[in-house]
Amino acid sequence: MLAERNAMSPTVARQVRITAIKAAALLGESPKGGWSAEIRPEDSIHAIIAVHTDAGIVGHGSVFTDGRLVQAGLQVLEPLFRGESALEPERVSEKLHQNTFWMGRGGTLTHTISGIDIALWDILGKVTGQPVGRLLGGTYRTRAQPYCSLLMEEPAQMHEVVADFRSRGFRAFKIGWGPFGRRDDSKLDEAIVRAAREAAGPQAKLMVDPGASDALWPQGLKWAMRTAEMLKDYDIGWFEEPLRPDAIDDYCHLRRVSTVPIAGGEVLTRRQSFIPWLTRGAFDIVQPDVTKVGGLSEQRRIARMADDFGVKFVGHGWNTAVGVAADLQMAAASPLTDLVEFIGGSAYLDGIVAEPFALDDEGYLTIPDRPGLGLQLDRDKLARYTPDAAVLFQD
Ligand SMILES: [Mg+2]
Repeated sequence: MLAERNAMSPTVARQVRITAIKAAALLGESPKGGWSAEIRPEDSIHAIIAVHTDAGIVGHGSVFTDGRLVQAGLQVLEPLFRGESALEPERVSEKLHQNTFWMGRGGTLTHTISGIDIALWDILGKVTGQPVGRLLGGTYRTRAQPYCSLLMEEPAQMHEVVADFRSRGFRAFKIGWGPFGRRDDSKLDEAIVRAAREAAGPQAKLMVDPGASDALWPQGLKWAMRTAEMLKDYDIGWFEEPLRPDAIDDYCHLRRVSTVPIAGGEVLTRRQSFIPWLTRGAFDIVQPDVTKVGGLSEQRRIARMADDFGVKFVGHGWNTAVGVAADLQMAAASPLTDLVEFIGGSAYLDGIVAEPFALDDEGYLTIPDRPGLGLQLDRDKLARYTPDAAVLFQD
């Protein structure tokens, strides 16, 4: 009701101020990442942020890092956001970025600002009565296809896992990390991809992500060239992070010789970091992570810059319900973004929201057109995964 009243009263809307920003680390069921130093269920790799306002409206954001770092980041940023407008996400986020460059831009503070920025867009939507996608640029689409991200397994198990998620209604998949490229066994790599393609069916979209941003990735350009050649026989939609994340020259070369599109950029943060990758032509598809890169304000600028270079933007906020909700709103506001990443089987997606994400008959998600991100976090469900659930809600 308050949001509706504010939507009709610009005088009230002008006065909405940030009173506090809180973070709650998610832990207890943190899913495996296929990393060399594997994630344990009790590890915190995500945090949910709540921006509280003097109008009683709360906005939510998500950050992909250890919750302890987010809480420290909020303490450092507090003098800069205290009393600020809760209705000007781009200006307020830029203020936070510009005044903290000396503390290591691109790291913990940028990650933390990402969550704040997403929450501020959520608030702006709630106050104006508009879905965030409309505020970000307009409604190019009302639904998007989630591609189900699954860890690579040995071939027989890979088949089983993909078939399971196909039976749940998914029609797009990405397999990644795990043994692929790690064993110096090109026959095993091909067998994994073949098993996934057979289970997904010939019509499904299937992408491959070796995860070369993991520690000590052993392969180089020649492996990536040979592997791209193999992947084209399985109608692979894109080859993601096939090279170490700083190997820009090799990415540029690979993109020119591979007929399978090359995707990357999930570990880059700050819009400025994307400039050389886009100007030099390193990617066919760019995948900034809205929960790390600087939030929706930064994401929108990267997506627009990519579009101007003819590079497709696909979001990477897949790890929590809030991240996916932000990606869906960006997909609504982006001319060519028909896909969103979606982690298969994580408690931090369906396990923390009032209404679970529901696939339609064609395997798509409807983009919420409710005010803000269109997402309702469930306090009781969240309490299973964080001792701090109460700080995310207005009492
Ligand atoms: Mg990836």
